[in-house]
Amino acid sequence: MTNADETTQTPQTTKTAADTATNTETSKPAGATRSASAPSSRLLIGSHVSLSGEKMLVNAAKEGIDFDASTIMVFTGAPQNTRRKDISRFHVEEGRRLLDEHHIAPLIVHAPYIINLANTKKPEAHEFGVNFMLGELERAEAIGATDISFHPGAHVGAGTKAGIEQLARSLTEIFEKTTTTKVRIAVETMAGKGSEVCTDFDQMGELLRLVGSPRLTVTFDTCHVYDSGYDLKDHADDVFGEFDEKIGLDKLTVFHLNDSKFGLSSHKDRHANIGQGKLGWDALYGIATDLRFAAVPKILETPAIPDPADPHKRYNCYKREIAELRAGVFDPDLPKKVLADNGVAATA
Ligand code: ZN
Ligand code: FE
Ligand code: FE
Repeated sequence: MTNADETTQTPQTTKTAADTATNTETSKPAGATRSASAPSSRLLIGSHVSLSGEKMLVNAAKEGIDFDASTIMVFTGAPQNTRRKDISRFHVEEGRRLLDEHHIAPLIVHAPYIINLANTKKPEAHEFGVNFMLGELERAEAIGATDISFHPGAHVGAGTKAGIEQLARSLTEIFEKTTTTKVRIAVETMAGKGSEVCTDFDQMGELLRLVGSPRLTVTFDTCHVYDSGYDLKDHADDVFGEFDEKIGLDKLTVFHLNDSKFGLSSHKDRHANIGQGKLGWDALYGIATDLRFAAVPKILETPAIPDPADPHKRYNCYKREIAELRAGVFDPDLPKKVLADNGVAATA
């Protein structure tokens, strides 16, 4: 995933989606405010939050609470590297207590980007990646996570078939070595950059068939699926129908809910804020509220807005985007409001 810059975005629809809201939401006011309601009636939605700082899981939980998230996703360290702190420093007990008190579940882990278990050309990549994932599964279990969202990697020239087969061998080895944990590995659908594998449902279905483990599931990233060539905007029913046929909807255990900056078949993997990209509000809100997926966590990985006066500063939109999705009303001015929240005028 890469952050999109927002300077050229134009909202693509101003139609609100209140008319497609579910029964529990029809009485919501047309604004981004909401009061607490029973956990069961709430969308299972949240975002990536940061497991950083001295207090680690406590910080992540507090961020999720501040965002009014009912599910969260964390990296167990920097996504670009594989250095990880010992689990004794994660403040698990206090963090778990906060998450449970605030009914934030499930907790998802995202594995770092640099693992490539589809690489047949470097034998050391296999051993390194497998060992890292064994540790990641331990950390995920220790913090009470259900799933690890996992990038399937790239075949780096060996071909898709060889890449998928190599990935299947690696995942099989990982599952065989971790029979006591229930934590799943939810392989992410990819946009098709470079030589990425798992860029279509046939490849994903083949991978699941080769591994044959109930602990191997799928992370459905809406930006990636759209960018890879599935028309989630105008033919979502067909897309999910094909997913069901080739993979099985019961295998879909995590959504990454992102708009797409470049759109259908672009293979770019550039995320956009909800309703601010080519996929658009109606498609994303439709997935968020689809009753088939009510129990599947939807995780936002949308871009932070750069400060026009200081591009080193960026402000994430998660709190407002979660409120927007809970209210069921698209706010085309949301990025401007995020800047205003941070005391910044939106004029570049
Ligand atoms: Zn991405
Ligand atoms: Fe990802
Ligand atoms: Fe993603």
